[in-house]
Amino acid sequence: MTVEISSLLLAKLQAAVAATPEVERCGLLFGAGGRVTDISFAENSAAHPQRHFEVDPAHLIAAYRAARSGGPAVIGYWHSHPIGTAEPSPEDARCAAPDGSLWLILSALDVRVWRAVDHGCVHGRFEPLTLAVV
Ligand SMILES: [Zn+2]
Repeated sequence: MTVEISSLLLAKLQAAVAATPEVERCGLLFGAGGRVTDISFAENSAAHPQRHFEVDPAHLIAAYRAARSGGPAVIGYWHSHPIGTAEPSPEDARCAAPDGSLWLILSALDVRVWRAVDHGCVHGRFEPLTLAVV
């Protein structure tokens, strides 16, 4: 499966990540099918945002509520890895529900997209997808 994101959205994410390299940034992906049509920027409410991320629960609830009222569908999450690669960490796998959601991960050098599934090939939770910047 290929996931499409516009170069404009990707540039916004990369700029935000580059601006705060000391913490993991995070937010939501909106869209349909394999297409990311919008993104949000959420507070990282993890206890140790240098190493983990947790999308602010209020942000998440508001996004799902808006989607139910006809707003854009939440299709996944994005977060950054200030240190390391754009591969999901074991902690990411521990926190991810196998619900088919997309996980876009940005490192300093790379951006990759994954899907959270049962029995994924990465930490038993993620399968790699192809990212197409359009
Ligand atoms: Zn991570």
